Amino acid sequence: MQRNGKVRLPEGKKVAVNIGCDFDAQSIWDGSFNLTSPAYMARGEFGAEVGAPRLLKLFEKYGIKTTWCIPGHTVDTFTDICKEVVEAGHEVAHHGYVHENPTKASYEEEEKVIKMGLESLAKIGVKPRGYRSPYWDFSPNTLEILEKYGFEYDSSLMGNDLHPYYPRTVEVHSDKANVFTKESSILEIPVSWYLDDFPQMEYITGGQEGQRPVEDIYNRWVSIFDYACNNEEGACYALTVHPQTIGRAHTIQMLEKLIQYMSDNGAWFATLGEIYDNYYED
Ligand SMILES: [Zn+2]
Repeated sequence: MQRNGKVRLPEGKKVAVNIGCDFDAQSIWDGSFNLTSPAYMARGEFGAEVGAPRLLKLFEKYGIKTTWCIPGHTVDTFTDICKEVVEAGHEVAHHGYVHENPTKASYEEEEKVIKMGLESLAKIGVKPRGYRSPYWDFSPNTLEILEKYGFEYDSSLMGNDLHPYYPRTVEVHSDKANVFTKESSILEIPVSWYLDDFPQMEYITGGQEGQRPVEDIYNRWVSIFDYACNNEEGACYALTVHPQTIGRAHTIQMLEKLIQYMSDNGAWFATLGEIYDNYYED
């Protein structure tokens, strides 16, 4: 069984809320979709030139610190805005180099990507405490590599929805029971596809419709937040947004409305690092 993981909250707060900005820019189109035509590069450029500054302005307005998961490729291509993220006091986590899929990578290939990401982040003065897999998936070696490079937390898995936990390696059998083996020393702060703007709102020609009304998304995100407040003690709520998706005019207004709702109803806005620092078990 998982341990009973919780987050210590400041007096009067009901749930720890992390806004995770996955600042993929052009890397996601290249590394994850193999789409490098000018239109897709322009969409990534929009994220860096328009979406990211809008988000920084919004977070400053509400005094919120967030976690930016930045691929090395974004740091190398759009260095100045990444420096602004750091200067504004937001946390930065490792998010691959060019948004690679690690699931089939060899140990050596995956380690190389981790090193490349670390080298790029070092250029903006960041030694990340945490990792978020670009694919929200792992290879069998991912946890071991994260441990080797001194990461403290990961935020890519879904073995829980509202509580941090320590992920275990699963020995998979199809003819008998699966076996959970080693528990990692990396703390998992879980994500959810239902708390991610990209699948619901990002249109990809011939692929993903992404045209859901913002009201639908707002209502779902509020509903999950309300459930956490009313039913789960010491919960954490990890929202994932992408500057090129949430940074559009209609979506950033929805995010602002959500921030206002959460602020009025007991959210403690925290970085993933702060959630890690306040982890406890009972
Ligand atoms: Zn990403």
